[in-house]
Amino acid sequence: MTHMSMTIPTDATAPVLVVGAGPVGVTAAAELVRHGVPVVLVEAEPEPKTDWRASTFHPPTLELLGELGIVDRMIAEGLVVPRFQHRDRDAGLVAEFDFGLLRDETAYPYRLQLNQQHLVRMLVERLRSAESTPLARLVFGARVLGVRETGDGVAVTVRTDDGETELHGSHLIGADGANSTVRQTLGIGFEGHTYPERFLIVSTSTDLREMIPGLADVNYVADPREWLFLLHTRESWRAVYPVPVDQPREVALDPATLQAQLQKIAPRADGYPIVDRQIYNVHQRVASTFRLGNVVIVGDAAHINSPVGGVGLNSGIHDAMDVVRRIVRIRAGADADAELTAFATVRRRVALDYVQADTHRNTERLKETDPARRQANQDELRAIVADPDRHRSWVRRASLLESVRRFGIARAPEPTDTSEPAGAA
Ligand SMILES: Cc1cc2nc3c(=O)[nH]c(=O)nc-3n(C[C@H](O)[C@H](O)[C@H](O)COP(=O)(O)OP(=O)(O)OC[C@H]3O[C@@H](n4cnc5c(N)ncnc54)[C@H](O)[C@@H]3O)c2cc1C
Repeated sequence: MTHMSMTIPTDATAPVLVVGAGPVGVTAAAELVRHGVPVVLVEAEPEPKTDWRASTFHPPTLELLGELGIVDRMIAEGLVVPRFQHRDRDAGLVAEFDFGLLRDETAYPYRLQLNQQHLVRMLVERLRSAESTPLARLVFGARVLGVRETGDGVAVTVRTDDGETELHGSHLIGADGANSTVRQTLGIGFEGHTYPERFLIVSTSTDLREMIPGLADVNYVADPREWLFLLHTRESWRAVYPVPVDQPREVALDPATLQAQLQKIAPRADGYPIVDRQIYNVHQRVASTFRLGNVVIVGDAAHINSPVGGVGLNSGIHDAMDVVRRIVRIRAGADADAELTAFATVRRRVALDYVQADTHRNTERLKETDPARRQANQDELRAIVADPDRHRSWVRRASLLESVRRFGIARAPEPTDTSEPAGAA
């Protein structure tokens, strides 16, 4: 479906262009509309994607989405999960962590397990109803091919079934995912590494808690060869595990292979009904900059990471909220360069120092092969949950609450020091 009009003004009422209607792009668009800023949301696909990908929303993300007024609906459709477990394939339960320790600090002291496409659906519905006002225009079935600065703003070339055209806006938010056209056409580097093993996600309608007594709704299971994590949503239980480097894709996805993997988690005489399966490459990459002029990149366009910990999408939503609130201030007269530089600096630092650092450490811990280090990891996790202060610090960091409280979302930039140096005449 294409909803397009080409008459978009380039003056002060120019819209903000958002490229990509994934969870990060729709959040940016909905937040712009909430602040009365016109937005044009451009998406390559004819309809929002519905594939099962990220499924965890952490406390500070729920706080931010709460300001959009959709959290009650998300909670009604999702699964509230205060506790998660670290396990070992041999040792069983190692330590159970409790987000409930954060209850004096946030209204949402838990992970909400909800597949990301539900957030997209809710916010696209909201944006479609705003299309009756001048604030929102949704342009689906339109692939962005290139981006250029125009002096007073930004222009993108888009291709639709009707041909190529150009859209204009004051700013552009590139939320077009890991293979971002916006990032690539601007020549922004995406340094990092790709894990040698691909990750496989297999989902079953069987309740794994019936098979494994004491299992939490979110579980990270260490093993030198076949580490995995087990996540529960209302639709399914999902197991995520590494695929051997030399195993062909079609073998990894073969129903017999999937059944064998699930049987190793917990034997089930009747086999497991499989409702979804996906295989994908996992990377740790961060863009060399999150901003060039009036163009910013957010979410997977700016940083991608291992899913162990469920923080990648969350930090993308934090990026979106941060930059939108700065654009709102810029439109009200704030220093554009200072605001966008602050966005790019702070959000890139969080991507490196929190998201990438923690998800890589989490992944390495799960796959540790050295028996002594594996034992040391278990001892450390047990010691952390036994100490209330360390336990609380751990869940503060794991939930991204620490990074959000430390750096804020859209905190005003430090004023430029224009004073004369001491001793100046
Ligand atoms: C198979 C899979 C499983 C995953 N599982 C997990 C998980 O368990 N936990 C976790 O935390 N994360 C997981 N992730 C990552 C998570 O899904 C992403 O972090 C999240 O989707 C990022 O959202 P986004 O909006 O930035 O990008 P995306 O969701 O990728 O959305 C980008 C949007 O931009 C559109 N687009 C792309 N190019 C253009 C263009 N040129 N013009 C217009 N539109 C364009 C795309 O069609 C898409 O709709 C998974 C990813 C994959 C691939």
